[in-house]
Amino acid sequence: MILDGYTDEPAGLGVPPYIDVYPRYIAGAIWSARKDIKIKYLTVDQARILDYKFFQEANKYDLIIVIAGVTVPGKYLGGRPINIKELEEWFKIIDKPLKMLAGPAAKFGIGTIGGKVAELPTKIKENFDVIIKGDPEIVVYEVIHEDTLEKADPYAVRTSYAEIEEFIIKGTKIVTQHPNYGLNLIVEVETYRGCPRVITGGCSFCIEPLYGLPKFREQKCIVREIEELYRLGVRFFRLGRQPDIFVYKAKRVGVDEFPKPEPLELERLFRGIRNVARHLKTLHIDNVNPGTVAHHPEESKKVAKVIIKYHTPGDVAAFGVESVDPVVVKQNNLKVTMEEALKAVKVINEVGAIRGYNGLPELLPGINLLFGLKGETKRTYEVNYEFLKKIIEQGLLIRRINIRQVMVFPGTRMWSIGDRVIRKHKSYFKSFKLKVKKNIEPVLLKRLVPKGTVLREVFTEKYINEYTYARQVGSYPLMLKIPDKLPLGKFMDFTIADHEHRSAIAIPHPLNVNNAKPKLLKLIPHISRNDVLVILKNRPFKSLEEVHRLLKNKDCLKYLAV
Ligand code: SF4
Repeated sequence: MILDGYTDEPAGLGVPPYIDVYPRYIAGAIWSARKDIKIKYLTVDQARILDYKFFQEANKYDLIIVIAGVTVPGKYLGGRPINIKELEEWFKIIDKPLKMLAGPAAKFGIGTIGGKVAELPTKIKENFDVIIKGDPEIVVYEVIHEDTLEKADPYAVRTSYAEIEEFIIKGTKIVTQHPNYGLNLIVEVETYRGCPRVITGGCSFCIEPLYGLPKFREQKCIVREIEELYRLGVRFFRLGRQPDIFVYKAKRVGVDEFPKPEPLELERLFRGIRNVARHLKTLHIDNVNPGTVAHHPEESKKVAKVIIKYHTPGDVAAFGVESVDPVVVKQNNLKVTMEEALKAVKVINEVGAIRGYNGLPELLPGINLLFGLKGETKRTYEVNYEFLKKIIEQGLLIRRINIRQVMVFPGTRMWSIGDRVIRKHKSYFKSFKLKVKKNIEPVLLKRLVPKGTVLREVFTEKYINEYTYARQVGSYPLMLKIPDKLPLGKFMDFTIADHEHRSAIAIPHPLNVNNAKPKLLKLIPHISRNDVLVILKNRPFKSLEEVHRLLKNKDCLKYLAV
């Protein structure tokens, strides 16, 4: 049994609707070692629903592999990651199978809100026979292949992708057991790991340099994996497992700190994907190093154009800016100055701000800011706020701002500093977040999706209070709140009616004037109170012409149907 407790790392997301590489690679390793093994894949949310039946079921298996580790404990709409208490209690009750723990929790420990990654509590460690510190697929393969725990090295890592490509293909099948399969399941796909900036030591807080220089997967292998997933029915993909997709297969990796992107390599990759998955619905990217874009604007534009040619709109190049305070940049060996970060934002805007068929701009930058780093002072918060203000003043678009406090991992240069700065600057952090929420985010959101924008293929996911929450499937999807209970699990189109800080209020598109609730009618863009009353008094209508005749403001007709 594979129990997916979900993972969330800087390069890789595994909270539904996402499925990350861990369960797929592990399943593939098992089936590569012995094809007759029956694997049950279960998410932690499914286990919670099963309650005591889950323990009965789990106790019937020979081996249970638990995947866990969200770097920053947070709230997710799609699922609730496994928590410390569950890891402590559940696997005491489940005592028959061999038990292995995999994922970031096993490798690094458990993250606490704003602070250090703590070693796993002894109570949890005692529950498992193996805590996998290396690559889970390698360790699991050895255990199954040798049919014993004795020879398995929990620290074993892959030496190259060639070693696991067979696992990757065989493991794709596990997606058919995911609860979001056939609905909005989005598969996180890996293109490489390791960071080119390792030659200068990398950023002070980051674990990626621990993997050394990038090792790339071949295009044909990535394409083959997507072909297999597509054949199984997956329609949503994200190339999210790498620190910077723009330098995929860049030639001067290992020589230059910011190697020049190779648009042709990206073209080969994206074209290959489209060739085998012609009717995919989402193809997005994730992290991009703003330093790459600032140092190589022309090649970056070419890469962005390649991506736009083959991807789907609403895509995000998440820039790990972290901070633009020169002192913090220097002391933590970060990537860009304020000018360079602004330049990178502009470059992506020039190519990607154009609106695509699903209602969102093609490709926009996202901004990640990180606090609690070495050298941080009150001034750091002011400088970073200035940076965001400049984005607004220059009329630029960004997809979203992610403000976090550093999570300190053992083995990084931040380890000796720990959470000292975070604790000292708690109040600065809080007020910075508030200021951004109040003054910056609403302006950006209104630019991103002005009132009246129609978003296509939005998936209705959950009811919270009187609202239906819905999102498109992709990178950092915008949350829509619809003040009505719509059928769940459906793809629908929506008109943006109003804005909150980070989410938007929306109504179904087109809105049926004959049966829409008055509270939805009131939200039709540009409608007057009087026109709402006219609709309510005169419905049902037989045609839109009738509505047209009666309404004073004809602008709102384009959002309506009868
Ligand atoms: S550039 Fe910095 S944050 Fe990005 S992967 Fe490299 S070390 Fe990590």
